[in-house]
Order: sequence, then C-alpha cells, then structure tokens
Amino acid sequence: MSDAIIIDGKAIADGYLSKIKEEVSRLPTRPCLAMVLVGDNPASLLYVRYKKKYAEDLGITSFLYMLPTETKEEELIHLVEDLNNNPQVDGILVQLPLPDHISEFKIISTIRPDKDVDGFTKENIGLLALKQDCLVPCTPLGCIKLLKSVKDDISGLNAVVIGRSNIVGRPLAQLLLNENCTVTLSHSHTQNLPDLCLSADILAVAVGKPGLVKGNWIKPGAIVLDVGISYLPDKSIKGDVDFEEAIKVAQAITPVPKGVGPMTKAMLMHNTVKAYKRRRNFIEDKK
Ligand code: NAP
Repeated sequence: MSDAIIIDGKAIADGYLSKIKEEVSRLPTRPCLAMVLVGDNPASLLYVRYKKKYAEDLGITSFLYMLPTETKEEELIHLVEDLNNNPQVDGILVQLPLPDHISEFKIISTIRPDKDVDGFTKENIGLLALKQDCLVPCTPLGCIKLLKSVKDDISGLNAVVIGRSNIVGRPLAQLLLNENCTVTLSHSHTQNLPDLCLSADILAVAVGKPGLVKGNWIKPGAIVLDVGISYLPDKSIKGDVDFEEAIKVAQAITPVPKGVGPMTKAMLMHNTVKAYKRRRNFIEDKK
C-alpha cells in the first residue's frame, strides 16, 4: 500500500480563514471576541496570543484580559458577567485550564450560551446532543471538516474515538454520531484498545500520550485524526499516533503539528462570526 494522504490542516484552515476574512469585510460592524486568561501558564499564554493575532488578521476586534493566578472565583464570575452584558462583545473565551481554586464548570456555566464560542456550556453541549444548531466545540468541529476533506460521506463507517474529555473526545463522538457513523468512545479503562482500533474506519485520538497508537493498531485504509499535542524535552511536538508507522497503513492522516491545531483556531473564528450573526438575526450560513 502506498503512503497515506497527509491531511494539510494548515492549508485547509487557511482556506477557511480567507473565507471568514472576506465575510467579516462585508459585515456592517466588526465582530468582537473577548478572551480571558488567568495565571501565567506559558502554553495558555501562547494559545491566547495566537488566537488574538488570528482574530485581528481577520478584522475581528479582540480583547485579552490577563488576570493573576490569585484571582478569586467571584472576581472571574463578575468579569464574565460584565462581558455577557456588554453588547459590543459577541464571543467570550475563558482559556482553560483555570487555577485549581476556580471551578471550570462554574465559570463556563456563567458564559452566556449565545456568546460561548468554545461551545463548552451545558446549553450548547445539550443542543449538540439533540442534533440542533449550536456553537460547536472548535477542535471537534475542525476534526469533522478535516475528515470531510478526505471523504464527504462518512455515514455508516465505524468510528473509534480515544479520549473522552468534555472539550474533544465527547463532542467529537457526538458529531460523528450525528454524521451517522457507528461510534465507540474509548478511554483509559477500555479493554483491548489495539483490537478496538483495528475495527475503526475512522480513528480519532485525543489523549495526550505521544506515540500511543502504533501502526499495527490501524486498520488498513483507515482515516486517522491525531488531536494529541505533546511537547517533548527536545522541544519537538508529537501527536498521539506513531506517524511514521501510521502513514504506511492509513488512507489519510493528520500530522502533528499542522494538522488539527490550525483548524481549532480557524473554527474559533468561525464560531465568533457565527455568534455575531446569530445575535443580530442574520440568515444562518449552515456551512
Ligand atoms: P484530557 O482531558 O487529559 O483527556 C484525555 C483522555 O485520554 C481521557 O479521557 C483519558 O481517559 C484518556 N486516556 C488517557 N490515557 C489513555 C490510554 N492509555 N488509553 C486510552 N485512553 C486514555 O485531554 P484533552 O483535553 O482531551 O486533550 C487530549 C490531547 O489533545 C492533549 O494532547 C491536548 O494537548 C490535545 N489537544 C489538542 C487540540 C488541538 O487543537 N490540536 C485541542 C485540544 C486538545 P479517562 O477519561 O479514563 O481518564
């Protein structure tokens, strides 16, 4: 079998971004994204700076609130409430993880669902489960778009998702189910994971353990989405799938970096424009 198609997440994301930029240029006012970072986690700081730059490149106004680690939960709740009530703000993003003394659930639950551009509130997650229009979590949404760049109709395929986090695994499983895949959601207690993976036409891995999935776990011809990002001591970035082995077996695979990551940021911009348009009763673009 010849080597797998390497799904160019960066190029696909750039395509979405240029369409979004064009769309933003036609809006009567600029959409506005407010981001909140608590603490000084270097990875989180890098992520929010990237997101701010992406937004500004597209003509989306963005504010970044940087709060110290010692910020009290009530203070953060007040800031989110202010952003909820600020008519200028279309999207609110609170960068995770939060310091241990702050409840992520409480903070996310404070965000107005129609400004929840991460799609993490119980309202948006519930709507997703009910297959209703909503703000969909960015990484899973990006995964589906990457998948569809290879195969438009995934109906009836066996999909195995490894990892059941609220931000990636669970919503991705839900989206795959909504696309009529037969979905198995696996996690650290799953037995015989290699055998389970071998049944997957679509294998999505969101664990955070570099090289967890070996080539001989992959069904020949499968499409593999590698969501994992691990920073190794030599400063290289590695995914959850053994890429060199996987490309010999899979039909297509997302690389790390330049696979799912760029699509996550593009989908955040997509959601910000979507939130802007929905709040102003624009006619919805379903794409
Ligand atoms: P998380 O909250 O830590 O969840 C990890 C999941 O993996 C858990 O459900 C855990 O199972 C499962 N798991 C751990 N060890 C396992 C094993 N040996 N076999 C099977 N399942 C196992 O992580 P996350 O936030 O979903 O992120 C996962 C990875 O994706 C990380 O590397 C993160 O950096 C990356 N990520 C990338 C993007 C992107 O844009 N590319 C976005 C978000 C996250 P239990 O539930 O049983 O503990």
